[in-house]
Amino acid sequence: MRLSRLFLLTTGLLLALVSALLLRSIWADRAEVQAAEQGLRAMQRAYLGMKAAEKASAERGPTIPVLTDAEPPDPARRQRLDEFRRTTDAAFDEADAAWNDPDDVTAVAARAQLAQARRELVRARAEVDRVAALSQVQRSAPDQRITRRPIDLMFGVVDTLLGAVTTQSAAAEAIYPELAMPLVGARYAAELREYAGRLGSQFTVPLATQQPLGREEQREIPLLMGRIEQLRRLINLQARASHADASLQAAIRAMEASYFAEGLPFVRALAERGLNGEAYGHDAVAFVARYVPPMKSIVELRDTLFAAARDQAGERVALARQRVAINAALGGAVLCIELTVFLLIRHRVLLPLLRGTRALRTVMGGRELPDSRLPAATRRDEIGDLQRAVAALRDAMLRSRALELERERLIEQLRVASDTDFLTGLPNRRAFVERAAGLLAQARRHGWAVALVVFDLDHFKHVNDLHGHPVGDAVLRATAELARSEVRDGELLARHGGEEFVILAADCRPDEAVRLAERLRAKLAGTTITPPDGPTLQLTASFGIACAEPRNLIDLDGLFREADRALYAAKAEGRNRVCRNDAPIRLGAG
Ligand code: GH3
Ligand code: MG
Ligand code: MG
Repeated sequence: MRLSRLFLLTTGLLLALVSALLLRSIWADRAEVQAAEQGLRAMQRAYLGMKAAEKASAERGPTIPVLTDAEPPDPARRQRLDEFRRTTDAAFDEADAAWNDPDDVTAVAARAQLAQARRELVRARAEVDRVAALSQVQRSAPDQRITRRPIDLMFGVVDTLLGAVTTQSAAAEAIYPELAMPLVGARYAAELREYAGRLGSQFTVPLATQQPLGREEQREIPLLMGRIEQLRRLINLQARASHADASLQAAIRAMEASYFAEGLPFVRALAERGLNGEAYGHDAVAFVARYVPPMKSIVELRDTLFAAARDQAGERVALARQRVAINAALGGAVLCIELTVFLLIRHRVLLPLLRGTRALRTVMGGRELPDSRLPAATRRDEIGDLQRAVAALRDAMLRSRALELERERLIEQLRVASDTDFLTGLPNRRAFVERAAGLLAQARRHGWAVALVVFDLDHFKHVNDLHGHPVGDAVLRATAELARSEVRDGELLARHGGEEFVILAADCRPDEAVRLAERLRAKLAGTTITPPDGPTLQLTASFGIACAEPRNLIDLDGLFREADRALYAAKAEGRNRVCRNDAPIRLGAG
């Protein structure tokens, strides 16, 4: 697999993995926040349920004066009851709005209980109104059952409500086990408030009628007192066990000092008088004025306990939210860093490496690598070293290529020099022999006739002797120039040595060869040569020709031997003439 592909694949995989881990952690944190919020909502619902129970409980206070009213009824009593009923309704409405959470199963169940409590409240109020409408004679039956019944129904409303509160409180406790103490304590306080209220309710009718305690009251009062005492102990126990803080201890002390030191002993004394048939010494209004205010300390304890639970739960929610935010931020940072590292590796390592490799391949393949495709070697790291090495390699390759070209040029120059006669610039004998072999092979293939013309300057030694070697050289150059102008394509001219020249002509019949030699001879004889710093000279040359038919085996040495013989003949016959191997040909002046 290519490195770039592998890198992309592993990068993608790693990013996906880290993202998945992050998402999972954020998801878990979010679930914790949601649970904490749900617990807080359940707590709030429990509190609103307690408030509604408290109001429903408080409604009993103004209900009893209405039930025991004289004739005609006192509108002020009725008005006071209506006000309390409105307060209760508002507390129910508030609880109902808070409990309306279709996503929370416990809220749905609790809301059903709240609706049930409301129905019971409506029934109890209807009973209150029915009994209140009865005549005083009808109401004051000996066993007071008629006025007790609506109150009992109202007790039932609070019982149902406190049941719903327990459900909500338990839901909150399940999420916040560490807050069980304040939550349970608040519930005990709410119950305590209810039983304290019920205890008071036992006296309102006997006080209103100034009659001794009835059978019901005699049975209920000790039970309620026992229950109250039990709740008091439970609250104190909870507070001790959980090392309650200063504000909570102050609230408990306030309850002890107010309700248990004033309210309850007052009721106890009243109960004794009621049992003994003594005069109570208080009417219903005075009783309410003395008994109800100390009960406030119980409600305050409940609220203190509840506020403590709510504050701690709120802190936990805030902490959980903070953790989600921190984790999300950290996760984002990790992802960003990871991405940056990948981009850095890609940009600073992988891409330069790929570019370097490509450049190396180009250089090693012997192809041209322009500067624009050379990786920039400005960096001061290992990749920079690599890029510099690639550039150096390319420069070395360029230098070596230039050297090679130079070497080839020199070899060519040498070859030309070794093939060329330095004086005349004509091919020398070595080059002639080499090229003649090719020409003869060609002639053999095509079935051409060939002719070898050898010519030698006449009495050249005299030129040297009379005018010096430089003049002799100039004459040789002039002769070569003249001969070069006379030969055509397919005819090979060379300096054979000394003052002797040779022409090999392919596809040349004997008569054509004779004509060529004669033309050259005449031209030479008719040309005056004026070397620099020398006299005007007129020279002649003798020509020997050897011919070969296409059918015959063409042998260069044999041709030379025959041409030399013909040349020798031409010299012998007086020079400045053309002789063929078979017979001397005399053409032109002799
Ligand atoms: P012949 O008519 O019989 O050919 O007489 P010749 O004098 O031309 O012949 P010979 O062989 O006696 O002399 C040839 C001379 O050519 C001798 C030599 O010094 C001269 N020679 C050979 N090569 C060169 C050369 O490169 N330059 C000069 N200046 N002279 C050369
Ligand atoms: Mg000679
Ligand atoms: Mg000569």
